[in-house]
Amino acid sequence: MLLSKEARLTENSYYEASVTRPDPATALGDQISADICVVGAGFAGLSAALELRAKGYSVVVLEAKTAGWGASGRNGGQAIVGYASDDAIEAQFGADDARRAWQITVEAMQLLRSRITEHAIDCEFVPGFMSVAVNEKKGRKLAQASDNMARRYGYQTQAISAADMPQWIASKRFHSGSFDAQSGHLHPLKYCLGLAAAVRAAGVRIYENSPVIEVVRGSKPLIKTAQGSVLCNFVVLAGNVYLDAYSKTVAVAPELARRIMPVGTYIVATEPMGKERADALIHQRAAVCDTNFVLDYFRPTADHRILFGGRVSYSAATPVNLVGSMRQRMLDVFPQLSDLKLPYAWGGFVDITMNRGPDFGRLGDNIYYLQGFSGHGLALTGMAGKLVAESIAGQAERFDLLARIKHHPFPGGKLMRTPALVLGMLYYQLKDLL
Ligand SMILES: Cc1cc2nc3c(=O)[nH]c(=O)nc-3n(C[C@H](O)[C@H](O)[C@H](O)COP(=O)(O)OP(=O)(O)OC[C@H]3O[C@@H](n4cnc5c(N)ncnc54)[C@H](O)[C@@H]3O)c2cc1C
Repeated sequence: MLLSKEARLTENSYYEASVTRPDPATALGDQISADICVVGAGFAGLSAALELRAKGYSVVVLEAKTAGWGASGRNGGQAIVGYASDDAIEAQFGADDARRAWQITVEAMQLLRSRITEHAIDCEFVPGFMSVAVNEKKGRKLAQASDNMARRYGYQTQAISAADMPQWIASKRFHSGSFDAQSGHLHPLKYCLGLAAAVRAAGVRIYENSPVIEVVRGSKPLIKTAQGSVLCNFVVLAGNVYLDAYSKTVAVAPELARRIMPVGTYIVATEPMGKERADALIHQRAAVCDTNFVLDYFRPTADHRILFGGRVSYSAATPVNLVGSMRQRMLDVFPQLSDLKLPYAWGGFVDITMNRGPDFGRLGDNIYYLQGFSGHGLALTGMAGKLVAESIAGQAERFDLLARIKHHPFPGGKLMRTPALVLGMLYYQLKDLL
């Protein structure tokens, strides 16, 4: 069902139009073995593969479609320090462990930057991220959150007062903000394809068009596709919301599906507007995200477009008049762009958890899973892969720290989960409006 909703979301992506993909890798057609089998060639799976290979393991990646087909090749490109919900993590962890958890996200940004350099990935990285508040009350909350970050984690951002706001963004929509020089933005599909190339160059076999339909658990798990299988010692499940989409009869990991919910989010790209005009919109060409619960996020591209994202859907159906409603959201922020066409519009599903904290863990002692990035996965997926590799190699402390985050399943079983979430989200949308 999820996959049938995907066709419209992928057909008109600026990212796909601005890369040349390599020919797809061959599909798995044999019975093979490896130390580790990774399911999914998005950021999380590829990062795990790269880190595990660096530790000397033989690694195979099975990808249902092609590398970067999922959220990793479609997202807003905003690589941000922190979690989707720092409060939830702090509430569960207490001060010391919350600080260690925060530090993992700082390292995630460093890892992202060092991978770009080390593997010479041309993905248009630009440093700078601005968090913006739409009114005075939200501005106070944002300033308070920035103060907390500085006091509790020693993480510094630059406050942007209401008076200074016009120098930072050519929009009247925002009251005040904060600027984070360490976070930034990039072309996610270029980064993902670069990561896949680095993984292959390290000696990992990636099989594409090879959906996993069953994982037979045991001391040596057997990972089955329609035409082949991988016998291994460890499995890393990094299939996001699609993990169970490929078999009508068996679920790959039924216990995981209820812990995340696919929420659609959408992006449009303007036509190019020229460097001077694009540079005048956002100071330092930073990425921008507002602090609303149902948020808008946008950034300039290397070829001087604005990529504008937002608009959520909880029913998995693509919203009616998607381009028209996205256009209106963009014009609410930048009315001066009304002359520009929107030649691209696409979207994808964010894997949210109830508390918006990431959901990492093990099924038994040899099947690892990484999910629930809750829209904050660009940088964190890199560390997720690194922490899995540390854990498999015997250093489990940091993986176990994040695996301690408690998650509740979405209520209501498969049929009622979505209506329950819609009601919850309507409440938050109302809060944004008020
Ligand atoms: C529109 C959109 C905007 C976003 N914007 C941002 C942003 O600006 N900043 C940010 O930090 N995050 C953002 N996110 C979230 C971010 O993209 C994700 O957190 C991240 O890409 C997740 O990576 P992943 O590897 O877990 O999943 P994915 O990239 O989805 O990869 C999973 C892969 O597994 C494969 N797979 C699934 N099941 C199977 C199976 N059974 N067998 C074989 N293969 C399988 C899929 O085909 C897919 O390629 C956004 C997401 C979306 C959709």
